[in-house]
Amino acid sequence: MNLSSVPLSVQTTCAYCGVGCGVKATPKADGGFEIAGDTAHPANAGRLCVKGSALGDTISLEGRLLYPMVRPQRGSDELRRVSWDDALGQVADKWQAIIDEHGPDAVALYVSGQLLTEDYYVANKLMKGYVGSANIDTNSRLCMSSAVAGYKRAFGEDVVPSSYEDLELADMIVLVGSNAAWCHPILFQRIAKAKEKRPDMKLVVIDPRRTATCELADLHLPVKPGTDVWLFNGLLSYLNQIGAVDPAFIAEHTNGFDAALAQADAECGDIAKVAKTCRVSVEALTEFYEAFAANAKVITGYSMGVNQSSAGTDKANAIINCHLIGGRIGKEGMGPFSITGQPNAMGGREVGGLANMLAAHMDLENAEHRNAVRTFWDSPRMADKGGLKAVDLFRAIEEGKVKAVWVMATNPVVSLPDADQVRRALAKCELVVSSDIIERTDTNAFADVLLPALGWGEKDGTVTNSERRISRQRAFLPAPGEARADWLIISQFAQRLGYTGFEFSSAYDVFDEHARLSAWRNDEADLPRKFNLAGLAGQGTQAYDAMAPVQWPLLAGEREGAKRIFADGLFSHPDRKARFIPTAPRLPANLPEEDFPLTLNTGRVRDQWHTMTRTGRSAKLADHIPESFIDMHPQDALIYGVREGELARLTSKWGAMVARVQHGGGIARGSVFVPIHWNNQTSSDARVGALVNPVVDPVSGEPEFKHTPVRIEQFRVN
Ligand code: SF4
Repeated sequence: MNLSSVPLSVQTTCAYCGVGCGVKATPKADGGFEIAGDTAHPANAGRLCVKGSALGDTISLEGRLLYPMVRPQRGSDELRRVSWDDALGQVADKWQAIIDEHGPDAVALYVSGQLLTEDYYVANKLMKGYVGSANIDTNSRLCMSSAVAGYKRAFGEDVVPSSYEDLELADMIVLVGSNAAWCHPILFQRIAKAKEKRPDMKLVVIDPRRTATCELADLHLPVKPGTDVWLFNGLLSYLNQIGAVDPAFIAEHTNGFDAALAQADAECGDIAKVAKTCRVSVEALTEFYEAFAANAKVITGYSMGVNQSSAGTDKANAIINCHLIGGRIGKEGMGPFSITGQPNAMGGREVGGLANMLAAHMDLENAEHRNAVRTFWDSPRMADKGGLKAVDLFRAIEEGKVKAVWVMATNPVVSLPDADQVRRALAKCELVVSSDIIERTDTNAFADVLLPALGWGEKDGTVTNSERRISRQRAFLPAPGEARADWLIISQFAQRLGYTGFEFSSAYDVFDEHARLSAWRNDEADLPRKFNLAGLAGQGTQAYDAMAPVQWPLLAGEREGAKRIFADGLFSHPDRKARFIPTAPRLPANLPEEDFPLTLNTGRVRDQWHTMTRTGRSAKLADHIPESFIDMHPQDALIYGVREGELARLTSKWGAMVARVQHGGGIARGSVFVPIHWNNQTSSDARVGALVNPVVDPVSGEPEFKHTPVRIEQFRVN
């Protein structure tokens, strides 16, 4: 590459978790890049975790998909290089033929929180406004859709009310179902630092496992898996009983308090009963409830342990209820705070990149919103009902209802629940297209057409982190081979289908349209939304290129976005009031039984990301944990006849996998933990997704990754 064309160092954003740390990439004399934290980025102020520091190890071209490829024969390993013209022409012809014969709902996009907001925007516009189907869903369905649904039910809009700074200003932080020490390390470091400065700051961790996060905790509540709603309903009831209530806030700014309280009182009005259900001591539970009541400034952070549940949305609302009762929202150091997993889960939500959402935080079910977006796009049609969510989408493919799927930047054969079903679906699908940076993945083995996309360091655009902060990802590497930006691939595909409205010539063009749409009609009373990028609309290419990280909402003429939302007491429901949601506690859908006596919990490890297609390339990252494992309690291992360090087979009703048994992960008896990352490219039978039950939350569609009944036995090679 020509280094003289590259600035000395480029400010960009980390490719991994939702903390969204700023990164500086500086070219080295040997052609590599030095990766360091960006001291100017508000999320990390120069710090990077191990994964972020190793970003430079993952940008080699080894294994890259560099050219458009077609598979001449299904099931064969052979891939044949073709031109972009041929590849897009083949896909467009088949795609259109399927629509002509079976209607727009017979095609689908399955996208990813790895995409930039600009990519997401164009994909969503194509499907909803031009194809006329809402069959576009995302792997973000697997990580934060319950949090989104919880916000929408409570606030009328998918809005995170707080900022990272509030975690430092709080007097008490409650982390629920979040191993932040491993999964959001820089945020956790900020908490640790704040706690070091203010030792009286209290940290409560609610998690069935004793994770690394618990090492900093003043109190760990190792609740029985799936009992969070009992715990927070109990808290709501307790707060009301002792008068830790803001009656004026409830009366002026909320609806539904009496019903939510009645629900909470019915089953959870007695601490001893709740403690028994949650399998924690009365003393520990009382300590938590008393501390929550005594500290006005409480932040409740929640992650996958809350979201990935068949009751995930209720869990989120049970938490939010406990903040609404005291009006503890939108103010310094307090509020409910979902911490997202992926680098751009939030950006995807902004542009409506889920099957049940519309761009600019408008609602697909609302005819006025649909008309507004269609008018803005000047598009030929508009999807008028929600599309298929991730799990249902792959079911519909296997059933033959969806006949073409385009997978972008994700690996569902590893990551979705009941992952063998995904294999069957793709094997049966008439047209499977994959845009990716890697040529050989478990999913790409099923693709008829592979399209090379730009990767981190090569692509340009924006991502939004967990605190609503939009940051630029900037290119510092040339496009390898014939790889193209995802927004460009989709725009060119849309033009092949004969659509106008996709004449974007840069990522800026796309971002500008997105910002203008967010601002359009935003002030009208019938569309009360907080999401607004008016201050970024029409800024021009130069300003976009130089854009510093900024939070939304950003109103016209403003340079700084809002740190906190809802301080004005105005929510986004038509009556501008928040909603208390009654949450009836219920156990996970599939409970342990005689043949499957253990509960499988899945999650991340510190140094790997998703299905390891990138982090798996770094020897440094592999040093931490080199292979998959089954973590279990030593006494359970004795009972089931498996030994630490030896291979064991884990089986559920849906599938099986093999990994080595280990102890020491702080797991309670009756449960096992397996990381989500390993795939069949790393070793055979390594995909834990094959075991996970495909039950989803009825509101959000998020799968129950944290609770699948399994059995374990020694692994013997036949
Ligand atoms: Fe990247 Fe997340 Fe680590 Fe920050 S905390 S460096 S965003 S992986």
